This record gives sequence, C-alpha cells and structure tokens, in this order.
Amino acid sequence: MRVDAVTLFPAMIDSPLSESIVGRAREEGFLELGFLNPRDFTEDRHRTVDDKPYGGGTGMVMMAEPVYRALKKVRKKNSFVILLTPKGRRFDQPLALELAKKKHLIFICGHYEGIDERVTPLADMELSIGDYVLTGGEPAAVAVIDAVTRLIPGVLKKEDATVNETFTGGLLEAPHYTRPGVWRGEKVPEALLSGNHKLIAEWRSTQARELTGKARPDLPAGGQAKKPARGKKKI
Ligand code: SAM
Repeated sequence: MRVDAVTLFPAMIDSPLSESIVGRAREEGFLELGFLNPRDFTEDRHRTVDDKPYGGGTGMVMMAEPVYRALKKVRKKNSFVILLTPKGRRFDQPLALELAKKKHLIFICGHYEGIDERVTPLADMELSIGDYVLTGGEPAAVAVIDAVTRLIPGVLKKEDATVNETFTGGLLEAPHYTRPGVWRGEKVPEALLSGNHKLIAEWRSTQARELTGKARPDLPAGGQAKKPARGKKKI
C-alpha cells in the first residue's frame, strides 16, 4: 500500500512510524510512506502557509492553495483522500479494515485552527480519531496508518493475530497472561494452564462476552446494557 501525508510536520509522522511493526512493514515494502509539505508548494519568499481567519478570532488558518497543490501533485485515480478533523466520522476497526483494502491513501493534516474550509470538498472522507482536539492531524494520521498497516496481509507474521482481537466481531478480547504462573500471589486462570484447547477457547469466549458486556455495552456483542464503561467512574 502507498500512503502519502500532506503535512507541515512530516517528522511527527515519519518518526513514530519508523519503529516496531510498522517500521518493519516499511522496510519490507508492505507500506510505502511519502510526505508532501505545503510549504514546498508556496511561491512567496517566506513560504507562507497560514493566515488570519476571516471574521476575526484567535489562531491562524492553513491556506487552501498550498494544500491543494500538494494534493494535486500526489493524487492519482485510485487515491482515497482523508481529511483529518475532529468534526469527521469517528475512526474504528471496521473502517480500518476497509481502508486496508485501498491501494493509495492520502492524509491531509491540519494544524493551528485547521484548514480553509474550501479544501474539504477535495477529500473523499473527513475522519476523526475521537472526541478530543489535537494540536494537529499528525498524531491522528499516525494512529490511523498504524491501525491500517497491521491489517495488510503479511505485515503480522501470524495471520490469525487479527482474527480474535478486540473489536473484531463486536467483542473485546479475552485477557492475556504470560509467565510466571503466579505473580505476586496472583494466579493465571486454571483453564489456560489445562492444555485443553476446547476448554481454553470456551474460557476465552466467555471472558470476551463478559468483559464486553461490562466495559463496552455499546458494542454489537455488548448487550447494550446501560452500565458505565470500564474506567469511567475514576474520572
Ligand atoms: N479549530 C478546530 C475545531 O475546533 O474543530 C480544531 C483544529 S485542531 C487544533 C488542528 C488540526 O488537528 C485539525 O485541523 C485536524 O487536522 C487535527 N485534529 C485535531 N483533533 C483531531 C481529531 N480528534 N481527529 C483527527 N484530527 C484532529
């Protein structure tokens, strides 16, 4: 898959996506990642990419033209253009699976107060990673590219790694344990030590359903019980 990011801060994406599984996916050619800096598509001496908002108000707005030119340079017939914005559709695992089938993704990352609204119709989708406001689209691009890359066939060496994981089938995944069998007095559940694959599968399935019902009743397999999500009470 080819991914390009239109960003004023390429290193904010390049650096985190050079490590671990995604870094290896890049080295092995599963993911080709490129960057276009709108500053390189300006014509004035100061390479200006932002200006004050019409109507007044705080902050600066990214100008449409440098973003447009950057996009024009890289967009192909099969490109899917994603504008990152907190106003967009909320990102989730089913969407990650859809995006993993695309040949070419282009992410437009806003910064400051965002991008001139006239850029919005150039995108195929407006996408948010959650109901909070980041300083820029770059961390959002990292999250989406990471989630999508691990779904590209061959990136995870164990093909079934994404089959039973959280959000697949509308469930949270069952808990994991590793050695030692007893850690600070806490034992690993008996079923996992049994060596009986059927029993282990049943235990995991029950755990996944119970956990989903408690922590995420809003998920398809969560039963829609009106209980608070896990961790909510602490805040
Ligand atoms: N003034 C904007 C508003 O209130 O909607 C927020 C702008 S934000 C400080 C700057 C940029 O960060 C946005 O243009 C967008 O690209 C990115 N951004 C911020 N939060 C985001 C989120 N939750 N999901 C995706 N992108 C986000």
